[in-house]
Amino acid sequence: MAAPGALATFDVAAIRSQFPALDQLVHGKPLVYLDNAATTQKPQVVIDAIRRYYEHDNANIHRGVHALSERASKMYEDAREDVRAFINARSTTEVVFTRNTTEGINIVACAWGDENVAAGDEILITAMEHHSNIVPWQQLCKRSGAILKVAPIDDRGALIVEAFEQLLGPRTKMVAMTQLSNALGTVVPVAELTTKAHAVGATVLVDGSQAAYHFATDVQALNCDFFVFTGHKVYGPTGIGVLYGKEAILEATPPFMGGGDMIGSVTFEESTWNVLPYKFEAGTPHISGPIGLAAAIRFVRGIGFDSIHAHESALLAYATERISAMPGVTIIGTAPVKASVISFVMDGIHPHDIGTIVDREGVAVRTGHHCAQPVMDRFGIPATARASLAMYNTTADIDTLVRALARVQEVMG
Ligand SMILES: *Cc1c(COP(=O)(O)O)cnc(C)c1O
Repeated sequence: MAAPGALATFDVAAIRSQFPALDQLVHGKPLVYLDNAATTQKPQVVIDAIRRYYEHDNANIHRGVHALSERASKMYEDAREDVRAFINARSTTEVVFTRNTTEGINIVACAWGDENVAAGDEILITAMEHHSNIVPWQQLCKRSGAILKVAPIDDRGALIVEAFEQLLGPRTKMVAMTQLSNALGTVVPVAELTTKAHAVGATVLVDGSQAAYHFATDVQALNCDFFVFTGHKVYGPTGIGVLYGKEAILEATPPFMGGGDMIGSVTFEESTWNVLPYKFEAGTPHISGPIGLAAAIRFVRGIGFDSIHAHESALLAYATERISAMPGVTIIGTAPVKASVISFVMDGIHPHDIGTIVDREGVAVRTGHHCAQPVMDRFGIPATARASLAMYNTTADIDTLVRALARVQEVMG
């Protein structure tokens, strides 16, 4: 089958050549990597940036006066500026480095939540959240006596906006929602929902873990109060994430962890807090993390989200058409606005067997509940197989997947 026209303008071969891990055989077959919603592969520039840092610049940051410490401090803070520009935050004071999305949400649920949420208050999430945007709020509800409300999704996996609106009220203190579902691929209209949430006085957190590597992020346009994402999905290293918060809100929020770096002064009687964003970065940070993340961000910006989005949309359409044409295969998650995730089940075959058999063909997909068990419950299934796309995937990858799925039916049938 010929490649759709939109893909012709995008030099996917040139992009693939920059990801060394893509160029390998798995069980004797060329690797087809379709587990991008779990983590993406890393371009050479990211690997090189981390390596160069450890080979030349490694030192602890912020307090040193020697050359290496000054260099490392500058690289760390330059990376913060790269992240600021990437999400269009007003200021680097609004950019806190974390370990990952999970830590970002926990900081908000603990530090902001314990200060602002009381018994009888309500936290509103959606039915398609990742566990990391469910459990911290459940824990906050346990501590505070607040109530967790869940906005439902329809049979295609789209958020039911009218139901979301009905669940908003004067007691809603926090609305925490994903921008793009990792289990279903649903795109959530978070800007519109943020306006509705603000109208009742709620604070808004957007989980941008999936969205951040498929679309350009503009936290000012979204107007959310908090935005979190994780470096390892934006083609960056693991162990680094970002918590964005509006300055006034972060200013009014007490620190999450105490220790070095986050203080202004310390005596045994009392300590004062450092300025933003350091108040939320206790201890020696993952210095090479932001440096690697900044290299990833520059790489992505160099290609541009317009091209990435055009390529991935065409690929999603192609994959959806080919997979839904297979007898005995059902796609779970068919919302009108979708991106880059195809979850599916096959008649009479457990998703785990799908994953194992396609792996023998060199194809990496994820199987399971995708850290979204309530989504599986909603569709009455224990698990799905999930193919998820990134900028380096091709129509040939999809063709290989479809052949591997036919093989699954042969073996299991
Ligand atoms: C991956 C993911 C997370 C969690 O990211 P971590 O890096 O594991 O903290 C949260 N939400 C969504 C939507 C995700 O896809």
